[in-house]
Amino acid sequence: MPPSRSLPIPASPSPAECDGQPDARHGGDLWYCMNCAYILCDVCWEAQPPHRRGGRGRSGLPHEKVDLQKKSVLDAALRLPGTKEELDQLHADDIETTWFGMQPRS
Ligand SMILES: [Zn+2]
Ligand SMILES: [Zn+2]
Repeated sequence: MPPSRSLPIPASPSPAECDGQPDARHGGDLWYCMNCAYILCDVCWEAQPPHRRGGRGRSGLPHEKVDLQKKSVLDAALRLPGTKEELDQLHADDIETTWFGMQPRS
């Protein structure tokens, strides 16, 4: 008789990491910013100019700290595009327009 196989249960969807500067002193909890599309620790969160300015994006939406639990739900709902590279590019584009307060060329 084959042994009954139990399906592997992932502990968490993916270990979350801070998207801030790699050489920053990360610390505190991790948060997701819907506006920046970044996962940031408490330290890196405060280091983002849009966040220090008290936080409204060009769309007028506040830069809110989103619980990562909530984010994984959102990810599933949004079905973000494929590769890591694509995502990084999207983030880069978005960050530029956010930081300098310019409208995207579209
Ligand atoms: Zn960090
Ligand atoms: Zn933000």
